[in-house]
Amino acid sequence: MKMEKKNVVVGFRPDGSRVSLPIIRICGDKGPSLFISMTVHGNEITGHKSIWYLLDHLKRSELRGLITIVSLVNADSFNYAIRGFPYSALDLNRMFPGDIKGSLPDRVVAEVWKIASKSNFILDLHTAGACIPFILIHPAGSSIRDFIREVAISSGLTPIYNYDSDLYSRIGLDMSLTGMAVRSNVPALTIELPGLIGIDKLGAKAGFIAIKNILIQLNMVNGKEEKINFFPAIKGKNLKRMRVLSEVPGLLDYKVGLGDEVEEGQVLTIIRNLLGDVVGDARSPKRGYIIQLNGFSRVFTGGKVATLAIEMGS
Ligand SMILES: [Zn+2]
Repeated sequence: MKMEKKNVVVGFRPDGSRVSLPIIRICGDKGPSLFISMTVHGNEITGHKSIWYLLDHLKRSELRGLITIVSLVNADSFNYAIRGFPYSALDLNRMFPGDIKGSLPDRVVAEVWKIASKSNFILDLHTAGACIPFILIHPAGSSIRDFIREVAISSGLTPIYNYDSDLYSRIGLDMSLTGMAVRSNVPALTIELPGLIGIDKLGAKAGFIAIKNILIQLNMVNGKEEKINFFPAIKGKNLKRMRVLSEVPGLLDYKVGLGDEVEEGQVLTIIRNLLGDVVGDARSPKRGYIIQLNGFSRVFTGGKVATLAIEMGS
């Protein structure tokens, strides 16, 4: 096994400093190629610790194939722990496949796409704040759909299909890395780990085990699938994600926790004003499971209070 680490320069900031992509390539015997990227959203960094575990593990394994890791897609937002590109507030994960002759964010995205789109499989690591770890399946064509689902299940994380198609395209998920990949018939999955701004230790462990399980499934390393049993298990089978938004702004006083099964109409949170008075509540629009809560505990009008996993077709 050969490991190579380098920085690929994509452009320069006004002060002359370089904007580059840190890239780790681990090359084993003949086998498939896996691409892993992280921190396209600069405040989502739990996956870094998953990769530290993975690099350690690979030292003790025999790798078949090639793993390419872009460990930091959005350097400028990472430095300031924010989601988008600081100068223009652009979300890089809504810009794929990018443009090598375009703006700096476009060029960063195009450079990532150039490597990712040539791979046999893509994993994009994100964090979703106060959440249970889950693996997100994008709507893919029939030639790769079953394979992606199989790999998602093998990860040991709860597989969840993405939002309904109108919301999915309205918020630009078809132009995310994994969304664009599956549209181009490159199998891809998004891993969502817990963590708000910083690294969540247990989430990082879950991320590592999921990647290791996927490597076993792709026949890139030997081993036995490991269970991820330190987060609440979700019992549903064909789940998709659904947002719960609040009509009422204020502070959130939750009545449910991560992993809870909830009924349609059940109060998820009471909402209070700054004087401590109850001004409303947010209820579950469907029967389902809580996979994410609002870790900031406060909402604007129309802000998200929770993400549910609900049965498809419900
Ligand atoms: Zn993200």
